[in-house]
Amino acid sequence: MSAAIEGTVQLFIGGKAVSGSAGETRALLDPSTNVPLAMTAIGTREDAHHAMEEADRAFRSSGWPADDGSRRARVLSKLARLLEEQAEEFALLETRNMGKTLKESRGDIGYVVRTLEYVSGLADKLEGTTIPVPGARFDYTVREPLGVTVHIAPWNYPLLLAVRSVAPALAAGNAVVLKPASLTPLTALRFAHLAKEAGVPDGILNVVVGSGAEVGEALLGDPRCASVSFTGSGDVGRRIAELAAQRLVPATLELGGKSPVIVFADADLERAARGVAFGIFGNAGQMCWAGSRLIVARSVHDELIGKVRQIAEGLRLGAGVEEKVDMGPLVSADQAHRVVGFLEEARSHGIHVVTGGGRAEEERLRAGNFVKPTVLDDVPSDARVVREEVFGPVLVTHPFDTAEEAIALANDTRYGLFAALWTRDLATAHVTARRLEAGMVAVNEAPNTFPQTPFGGVKESGVGTEQGRSALEPFTRAKNVMIHLGTSKGR
Ligand code: NAP
Ligand code: MG
Repeated sequence: MSAAIEGTVQLFIGGKAVSGSAGETRALLDPSTNVPLAMTAIGTREDAHHAMEEADRAFRSSGWPADDGSRRARVLSKLARLLEEQAEEFALLETRNMGKTLKESRGDIGYVVRTLEYVSGLADKLEGTTIPVPGARFDYTVREPLGVTVHIAPWNYPLLLAVRSVAPALAAGNAVVLKPASLTPLTALRFAHLAKEAGVPDGILNVVVGSGAEVGEALLGDPRCASVSFTGSGDVGRRIAELAAQRLVPATLELGGKSPVIVFADADLERAARGVAFGIFGNAGQMCWAGSRLIVARSVHDELIGKVRQIAEGLRLGAGVEEKVDMGPLVSADQAHRVVGFLEEARSHGIHVVTGGGRAEEERLRAGNFVKPTVLDDVPSDARVVREEVFGPVLVTHPFDTAEEAIALANDTRYGLFAALWTRDLATAHVTARRLEAGMVAVNEAPNTFPQTPFGGVKESGVGTEQGRSALEPFTRAKNVMIHLGTSKGR
């Protein structure tokens, strides 16, 4: 179980496993122990351009974009079946690389299977329109793929967030170059081999591991890049937007969040407490849409915090591969250090730590990147832990007296990815949902999403949406065709 993965995991370009052009490799560490887990090849600028070249060649010559979409639908649904058959191996690999619990990885891989199934159903439904125009003319549109699309993924849901944009791009007939996060490339590389087995032509799906600054920027700077789908931090998102603007290509940006969870006094507090805990301790808090700010009616404040505290203190921390573990380590020592930095600062400002507040102290957890599930109370609204995304298991709480105050607190952030509210009152639910500045709102539900529902943020949480019925649209363009039906002597 804990033996390192043998050999060097290679890049995947033009349908083949290849080493990086500079022959560089890097060790990936097991986040639960910081012991080396695997070696991966590290790509360079040259490898990025090579992948773009292979993708462009395949786009032009493989026939992938040309057909009616039914071939792509069949290939993607076969890929879903193959992934389902190997789901357990993929889940284990994701857990060993990223740290999350096996239960969480199994959920992620199941989600990827569902995503592939869903978009495979859209592949043969890219329809155009016929448009009435003046005179003896016939006008119609066709939807065409863009060409080579670039995808840059983060480490928190390595395969899931990569495939969330890669699958619709493939379904729409594009060739894809994916750059996974440097910390977590293993499942994406294995997925590329599976895609080949399912019938994705060589060069249509390429995976280049390498640093964002080198490989990521080279992919975006390549003249063959037709669009970029980025999921990650706001700072890098801004850089991606600049590069996309220089190249005049569209960018979909899925960025960070500081999502509010409002609990009204009439809520089912038992369910709300479980939803709040899941929304901030799930994936060890490393979720873009983590419900990291709890805004709770003063009359039920103590009772709810007590319940959340009880859940937090009952969570068993441990290596994700161990069954019965509820929360794994953070992805890296750096990430744990960053989260602990927020907690030390909060403490030095006299913020009340209800539970948690630092690294896990147990001997068996020492070597890993474990941070205790944490709840902070009486937090001033200008504290850094309230304003900034922590990306760890850290909940801040604020009491409120009126619904107006709750909504103002919820919207007092530069982010707008997700918001949740808990109430039994129908009018409160609908009215509040409308007034929350967020791309997604959940009522009486922890953060949740499905391949068929749109996913995206407003404000500084992003630009554009993924998933849902229009998932393929950002990867296509409409071409207008106008035909004059008159004779030469006619009009
Ligand atoms: P990150 O530092 O922004 O990195 C994301 C990806 O961008 C990685 O593959 C990274 O490569 C690459 N990258 C870095 N600099 C680049 C550059 N100059 N040009 C091109 N690519 C570059 O984010 P992260 O640390 O992986 O993930 C955490 C963040 O992601 C959080 O802020 C979280 O909120 C956000 N997130 C958002 C969503 C959403 O759907 N809205 C979902 C999940 C996560 P390296 O790995 O080599 O640095
Ligand atoms: Mg980063």
